[in-house]
Amino acid sequence: MKNKVVLIGCGNVGMSYAYALLNQHTYVDELILIDIDNERIIGEAMDLNHCLAYSPSKVNIRVGDYNDCNDARIVVIAAGSNQNPGETRLDLIHKNSRIFKSIITNVMINNFKGIFLVATNPLDVMTYLTLKYSDLEPNKVIGSGTTLDTARLKYLISENLKVCPKDIQAFVIGEHGDSEFVAWSNANIALTNINEFLNHDEMKKIEDDVRDSAYEIIKKKGATYYGIGMCLVRITSAILEDKNIILPVSSYDNENDVCISTPAIVNSHGVQEKIFIPLNEEETKKLTKSIEVIKDTINLLKESNE
Ligand code: NAD
Repeated sequence: MKNKVVLIGCGNVGMSYAYALLNQHTYVDELILIDIDNERIIGEAMDLNHCLAYSPSKVNIRVGDYNDCNDARIVVIAAGSNQNPGETRLDLIHKNSRIFKSIITNVMINNFKGIFLVATNPLDVMTYLTLKYSDLEPNKVIGSGTTLDTARLKYLISENLKVCPKDIQAFVIGEHGDSEFVAWSNANIALTNINEFLNHDEMKKIEDDVRDSAYEIIKKKGATYYGIGMCLVRITSAILEDKNIILPVSSYDNENDVCISTPAIVNSHGVQEKIFIPLNEEETKKLTKSIEVIKDTINLLKESNE
């Protein structure tokens, strides 16, 4: 079976993902572009194909349609409206839930059996809707979750301590949104708890900066996309190469009937296993709050029959 990836939504995020894929050794054989702006993606496919002479990967890139989902291993969804300045991720909910209903229906009509990877905001709710509309097994529906927030966290800690971001063991968990939080009690560097290196005020500043990053970038340049593009590539390669990478993706939490981010083992089955890291009392309260925020939004949609 070919490693075929269908990308639905080829705006800033979708194309940053596509471009990042071409810049890395990935096992993607075919990349299919779908968007309502058909003219634009013809141009995007041409532009991407012109990278191949210098790309480390050999990928067949073309504009496609929903029939392509039939034998796809991954459908990545980055379609939908973006946050306007001052708009929260949750404000997008009504616009994007309608878009998702039609997208998921079109994918499933074509007998898709692979893994959904969702990037559209509000992320946890869109991941949940993908699961419900598709009726696939929960392990096959993944949201990028707090992978981006965790990347931002690692970057900021690394700047503060002058340590490579890859050597920092720390996670942002919960909602990909304002109620997200850092599980500081388990964060460590070289098996040494992070509180040996950072004091309370430094941790608070880093956590606030992580949470505000998207707002800050949107205010300055209108949208964020390179970071999430790299996160989506990392999740894609965990799936296609069956890597068992631990990533804080959003996936179904059976107990609470929400999709939410905790570290999880990601491989060719999708989310192989969610890892519930031990949290202290304060962090447990924050996780409960995050679950409530996501649940409230889902209930809002249920009330308006969306
Ligand atoms: P964008 O406006 O640049 O791109 C969205 C694309 O979706 C457009 O090309 C549009 O034509 C397409 N589209 C709209 N409706 C469609 C449909 N029914 N079928 C197919 N395509 C459709 O927006 P963007 O900056 O790429 O952001 C996309 C989403 O990603 C937003 O919801 C944004 O908030 C989210 N985002 C998520 C993260 C994350 O960490 N998960 C980070 C950044 C942005």
